[in-house]
Amino acid sequence: MDRRSNQNTRSAGGHSTSRKPKKENNLCPVYKKCGGCQLLHMDYAAQLHYKKEQLRTLLKPYGKLEGMLGMEAPEHYRHKVHAAFGRDKRGNVISGVYKEGTHTLVSVEKCLLENEKADAIIQTIRGMLKSFKIKTYDEDTDYGLLRHVLVRVGYRTGQIMVVLVLRSPILPSKNNFVKALRKEHPEITTVVVNVNDKSTSMVLGEKEQVIYGPGYIEDELLGMKFKISPRSFYQVNPAQTELLYQKVIEYAELSGKERVLDAYCGTGTIGMIAAPKAGNVIGVELNQDAVRDAVAGARKNQVENIWFYQGDAGDFMVKMADAGEKVDVVLMDPPRTGSSEKFLAALVKLKPKRVVYVSCNPETLARDLKYLCGKGYRMKKGVGVDMFPFTKHVETVCLLSNIQNKK
Ligand code: SAH
Repeated sequence: MDRRSNQNTRSAGGHSTSRKPKKENNLCPVYKKCGGCQLLHMDYAAQLHYKKEQLRTLLKPYGKLEGMLGMEAPEHYRHKVHAAFGRDKRGNVISGVYKEGTHTLVSVEKCLLENEKADAIIQTIRGMLKSFKIKTYDEDTDYGLLRHVLVRVGYRTGQIMVVLVLRSPILPSKNNFVKALRKEHPEITTVVVNVNDKSTSMVLGEKEQVIYGPGYIEDELLGMKFKISPRSFYQVNPAQTELLYQKVIEYAELSGKERVLDAYCGTGTIGMIAAPKAGNVIGVELNQDAVRDAVAGARKNQVENIWFYQGDAGDFMVKMADAGEKVDVVLMDPPRTGSSEKFLAALVKLKPKRVVYVSCNPETLARDLKYLCGKGYRMKKGVGVDMFPFTKHVETVCLLSNIQNKK
């Protein structure tokens, strides 16, 4: 669910779906308390069918849905795992998720969605706290140190990053802590301390100190290498991400000549995969760390026809439109809130032949399609990619083409 809010707490997100969980589920002991797996009561084929029909209905006024691409083995797909730390009523240290909309911490030791290695690392850290005299943070009293642990596991590289989110910058005996942790999990390639001293629902603060390794991990998708820093957005389900990106490239119909804009580009993943098939690519992204990772990734992959800009995608589009720039294809992948009217109005002015819209929220997608389909674009096709099995979340790729400006 935290697909686009890379700093939000991993709160369970149990919004209502048309089919409510009715009973406890033997797949997960905290199914009801956590609320993160809204569709756990359905078997996987039924989940895919449910999502497909929901999407089909929403997109019906605009165009046709090709289908919903599911996973063969839909468990343990999350390669980024967050755990909040605290104490239960008896004072025992627990780690897990906040129950949706509350500050009640639900203890989660194993999760059907999460990478098992990441879960094991979190449990090891929980077990180490006592001997290192590390107290968990208590929001009510503003006392204690450890707030969250974030683990990212590289899909192809197996590199593992552990981020310890602390209330204040000093981790007692940090070198011994790293040593003890790596003794249990030698696969860990980097450990970062992140300082979050604010009373906020954001997980990560702004200050960071690398206490082991390079401070980032690398991963590979579709033959390209990507650098991932603690605060950069990177899709949580890498297997399905490859499928998603392949669909984007297929829909973009690149011939090798086009000028492509990758808007909301994160670490530049989509643009970098598109670049060898395009004339050139411009990426635009708000998060500075992600842009830094994108630039490093382009250098590493020796992609020379890509440029990245840091800033608001809407502002950037307006500037391009005002300058009379030409863009052939726009690839856009906005956060859950969808795109802005500023962005869409400038896009219409720029008149790219094709727009490939990647969305993690069908409702804002439908809203934006309504706008674009009223201003010279037509939805040619769309497909769902199940990036978040067992949850209600739906990812979509849509191809729009300009009616006046046929290929
Ligand atoms: N395409 C990338 C990232 C998609 S997530 C990928 O597949 O990995 C959406 C991205 O939009 C995030 O990186 C977020 O930081 C960025 N973002 C959010 N609001 C933005 C804005 N107004 N302008 C530009 N980028 C924005």
